[in-house]
Amino acid sequence: TDYVTILGAGLAGSEAALQVADRGVRVRLVEMRPTVPTPVHTTDACAELVCSNSLKSMKPESAAGMLKAELDALGSHLMAVARECAVPAGGALAVDRAAFAREVTARIEKHPLINLVREEAPSLAEAACGARALIVATGPLTSDALAADLAAYAGGEHLAFYDAAAPIVMADSLDTERLFRQSRYEDGAEVGDYLNAPFTREEYDHFIEELIAAERVILRDFETRDLFQACQPIEEIARKGHDAPRFGPLKPVGLTDPRTGRRPWAALQLRAEDAHGSCHNLVGFQTNLTFPEQKRVFRLIPGLEQAEFARYGVMHRNTFLDAPRLLDSNLHLTAPAAASLGIPVFIAGQLSGTEGYCEAIRSGLHAALAVLATLANTPLPPLPTETAFGALLSYATNPETVDYQPLHVNFGIMPPLAQRVRNKRDRYAAYAARGAEALVAYVRDLEQAGLMPAAHKD
Ligand code: FAD
Repeated sequence: TDYVTILGAGLAGSEAALQVADRGVRVRLVEMRPTVPTPVHTTDACAELVCSNSLKSMKPESAAGMLKAELDALGSHLMAVARECAVPAGGALAVDRAAFAREVTARIEKHPLINLVREEAPSLAEAACGARALIVATGPLTSDALAADLAAYAGGEHLAFYDAAAPIVMADSLDTERLFRQSRYEDGAEVGDYLNAPFTREEYDHFIEELIAAERVILRDFETRDLFQACQPIEEIARKGHDAPRFGPLKPVGLTDPRTGRRPWAALQLRAEDAHGSCHNLVGFQTNLTFPEQKRVFRLIPGLEQAEFARYGVMHRNTFLDAPRLLDSNLHLTAPAAASLGIPVFIAGQLSGTEGYCEAIRSGLHAALAVLATLANTPLPPLPTETAFGALLSYATNPETVDYQPLHVNFGIMPPLAQRVRNKRDRYAAYAARGAEALVAYVRDLEQAGLMPAAHKD
């Protein structure tokens, strides 16, 4: 056996295949389309973008921009193709999706070391058979058979099938003059765990009107099947009755606004997402509004007028692993049952619990490096947490992360700067400069470990 098997020729799998093959290792890349379709892909091309054609901001002083710089520095094929297929989109990198997928497919098909096999992989054991290592990158819409098999290795409770997550906002974008810190029913002496956004009656009425009228993502049947029984989107609760949210997620009971000394008409609670409190979750605000509408409508909440979103709320089919309990920082599947497969198994893309196109590409690249290091019997140099993907990986594979939800890269999960920088623009620039420095050191470590292909050395 002299090949690595990669399941799924989506964003992560295509990048991983090209990276592994570039280093002279043969790849068996298994893609089920067009034999077995997914509910959202419409072509048989590799690396099809399922929804928006935007790969987000190119601004160097943004988390998405930092991620792109990492992909460039590491010689990402898909990022190079994205730049070739770019269409005008202001400061964002948007692509001609057909040209993008066509060019990625062409690179894969003409690579002498990649064998693209069009069939559904039904199980890890079958996929592992004959291979030296396995990367599973079958994405948020992993086929039912493989998802069930994966659950058997991971433990059913560690594989999610739906993602219904409330939005997450950056702490430093909140108006702390308007918000107050308090847990329900606490007396004045305690420091509450929640930030509360108090509504007046007029503010509440206006918010509910806009919430009901806002544009929603049209759900497909497969997505609505089980979803709404478990967890109601906030706009659906409002639709049931104007006051329903006030008796649900926006209930003000047990809260006293210190500025008025009275209970507010309604209140949203915000809960810290991480130990250093740099991101907050809008408690109970699972939503199916489109992303621009979330930004517009949720900014009507008192204290959130300038809120920046680390993640928008989502409600869609999304298969992903409980990464903090199952993956190490090399994306290696550490579940004890996986040892029976006899070869190392790595997980990449949305299935590994990242969210976003560039994040999927980057995790495919990381898994490829991890496989190559394993085959070469050399340790993979640690990815600094100051880099965008390093920060995401550290969050996603930290066993202390509870109730895991996939995230985009964002400044909220990066280690705090050594010195406090008050001005936001300067702070973002400082994050980017620190990340760029860490990246240079990381690339040098990869070169020394013999993990960078010759073409990318300069
Ligand atoms: P994919 O790109 O989906 O690739 C997985 C591949 O595996 C597919 O080609 C699939 O056919 C194949 N496969 C599945 N099961 C098997 C099997 N058993 N055997 C062989 N092959 C198999 N992110 C954004 O940044 N912007 C967006 O607008 C966006 N919209 C999204 C909309 C939806 C509905 C969903 C579900 C996700 C969206 N995402 C978006 C999130 C995510 O970035 C993308 O889903 C991204 O494509 C994930 O990359 P991936 O490589 O993990 O999976």
